[in-house]
Amino acid sequence: MEEIEKIAGWIVDSKRMVVFVGAGLSTESGIPDFRSPGGVWDRYDPEDFDFHRFLSNEKSRENYWMMATEMYDSMKDASPNAGHLAIAELEKLGNLDCLITQNIDGLHFKAGNSAEKVLELHGTAMHATCLDCGKRYEREEVQARLSAGEKAPQCAGCGGLLKPATISFGQPMPERETAEAYRRSQSSDLFIVVGSSLVVHPAASMPVVAKRAGAKLAIINRDETACDALADLVIRAQAGPVMAAIAGAVKGLMAYGGKSFE
Ligand code: NAD
Ligand code: ZN
Repeated sequence: MEEIEKIAGWIVDSKRMVVFVGAGLSTESGIPDFRSPGGVWDRYDPEDFDFHRFLSNEKSRENYWMMATEMYDSMKDASPNAGHLAIAELEKLGNLDCLITQNIDGLHFKAGNSAEKVLELHGTAMHATCLDCGKRYEREEVQARLSAGEKAPQCAGCGGLLKPATISFGQPMPERETAEAYRRSQSSDLFIVVGSSLVVHPAASMPVVAKRAGAKLAIINRDETACDALADLVIRAQAGPVMAAIAGAVKGLMAYGGKSFE
């Protein structure tokens, strides 16, 4: 495909490439996204994910933990797919400035991306934290307590509320990751979106920031996104095979001396 060669050329020529991903990257690993048919929003009320609701009453916390358990069960044993592996490959080839992920499934690390390259904008489901003292818990440990009958677990140290270390609607974004993600978007020369509808803010403003600052913008997503009109190139297809083909093409170009032909 001509577009694949084009993006591969841009990647090889790029000095500060940012890859930005969403739930669509992980559907091929068997983890449902939110907005596709059969996704989370078809089965749950988005308001149940609201942070203030979580804080406000015990019943909401119990509902939240039920939904969160279902999501975690789909994530904990999932394997990275061809898309994750291709992005890890781009890091190994030395072409990645950073990977901004909205995903909470930890699959980038299983694929081999390194912690210092990955900015988890919406936190991670692989841990839980106490909202009062900040103590971190292994998610498995908390899930074992839920299986044993607890419905809305509390901190063993201070009695505060435990919550998966993910960012709910209405909850403040993680400061370091958000600031860093904006900074990297602003300074990037190539910004590649994979598997995101680009409707969840502030994450979805990052491609716009990058483009306004002069980056090339490429979008690989199965359906239309909120930024298609702004993009230099849009590929509407499955993320896994396309990303694998792009990583392959990059390797091919690098074998010819590290420069694209354009
Ligand atoms: P989204 O559900 O809004 O959009 C996903 C997009 O991916 C859709 O536009 C869909 O067309 C596309 N898509 C689905 N499968 C695809 C595939 N195989 N190849 C290419 N495109 C595909 O997701 P979002 O933009 O990431 O926003 C949703 C929020 O939900 C995020 O903030 C994230 O934190 C959270 N979430 C995370 C996970 C996860 O960690 N895997 C799963 C569900 C939701
Ligand atoms: Zn605590």
